[in-house]
Amino acid sequence: MQRTIFEPEHDEFRSAVATYLERSITPQLERYIDDRLIDRAAWEEAGKQGFLGLEVPEQYGGSFAQDYRFNTIVTEEMSKVSVGFNSSLQIHADIVAPYLVDLGTDELKNRLLPDFSLGLKTAGIAMTEAGGGTDLAALKTTAVPDGDGWRINGSKTFITNGYTADIIVVAARTSPEKGARGISLFVVEAGMPGFERGRKLDKAGQHEADTAELFFNDVHVPAENLLGEVDSGFIYMMERLPQERIGCASSNLAHAKQAFMETVHYAKERQAFGKPIGSFQHLKFTLAEQATKLDVTQAFMDQCVMAKIDGTFTATDAAKAKWWTSQIQNEVIDACLQIFGGYGYMNEYRIARAWQDARVTKIWAGSNEIMKELIGRDLGL
Ligand SMILES: Cc1cc2nc3c(=O)[nH]c(=O)nc-3n(C[C@H](O)[C@H](O)[C@H](O)COP(=O)(O)OP(=O)(O)OC[C@H]3O[C@@H](n4cnc5c(N)ncnc54)[C@H](O)[C@@H]3O)c2cc1C
Repeated sequence: MQRTIFEPEHDEFRSAVATYLERSITPQLERYIDDRLIDRAAWEEAGKQGFLGLEVPEQYGGSFAQDYRFNTIVTEEMSKVSVGFNSSLQIHADIVAPYLVDLGTDELKNRLLPDFSLGLKTAGIAMTEAGGGTDLAALKTTAVPDGDGWRINGSKTFITNGYTADIIVVAARTSPEKGARGISLFVVEAGMPGFERGRKLDKAGQHEADTAELFFNDVHVPAENLLGEVDSGFIYMMERLPQERIGCASSNLAHAKQAFMETVHYAKERQAFGKPIGSFQHLKFTLAEQATKLDVTQAFMDQCVMAKIDGTFTATDAAKAKWWTSQIQNEVIDACLQIFGGYGYMNEYRIARAWQDARVTKIWAGSNEIMKELIGRDLGL
């Protein structure tokens, strides 16, 4: 179906993102996958092109576009080429940026955001701990007052960009007796004494995105690195999770659509019993079903993007978008892989990688079970 939410300036921007990917990512992607991380040069090029500063005010080197269609375009184009790179970049530009911009002190913003917008400094966010990611309110990393700042102790796991990021937003407990209302957010910076990283974690997919454990041993952070008010961290995270979820949802759908298009092409080329395999009714019907799921989901996602722009997008909408698109993505890509037969199971085929890359999306950014829990609560259940 023709999408109707974009204007000519969005189409132009999409071409610029696609050109960047063709030039800076596609030729290097195999190496990024082998290295388990993306070169700084690729980040810096994305910064120069203005893809990292969409959420950052102009005075700090961004464009502060205030039009979520631009964020969506970056996500969609990147997810078509490298969904792992999209995850890394989205954490930085779409997820961490609002924390720094909305809650950072002037000192912090002046010091970090210009390099952040240019990709000279990259960012991650560390909420999850080994003891549990879903139950954020139970986190154990602590921050206690320490002279003119805070002292952080604890550890985090599964942190995207964790191996490389210069700026990490860390959730830590500041009031042990207050549960969810006793958590604060801090910016920990590379090179702070006591801040250490573990090895790059060996994931089942999205290899080009680096993921690591982080350790904080008596890390002193200055007072300026507290984000917002003490003990308000949980509320700040809840306020910003819908943006994280709509971004993940756009990525899920774009990734599935790309895999689907490549599969249709394959089904027309690959022959069996003297005919293209796509002409067998079962495969034709399978592809027809996937095409329908993708179109229907796209219509919902475009509504979500426009609701985000006009301020009516809710946390429940975000939960629906996140669980539904990750489910659809996994269903579509699994059906596509089957159409590739044995080749679909070979890592040199993009469909095999897409299948591995997709699986995590049902787990992260709030698992699909938790998304349904949120929707159920909204129904008054
Ligand atoms: C590749 C990757 C990258 C990640 N990147 C980041 C990152 O950058 N920053 C970050 O902070 N975290 C990150 N995460 C962590 C991710 O958000 C967590 O893995 C996720 O929140 C689930 O937490 P958990 O793994 O501890 O599972 P658990 O919390 O132990 O949950 C296990 C299972 O129990 C289910 N469950 C738990 N509670 C309930 C309930 N009340 N009702 C029903 N079911 C329930 C869950 O849905 C899940 O299926 C990443 C994870 C991965 C795999």
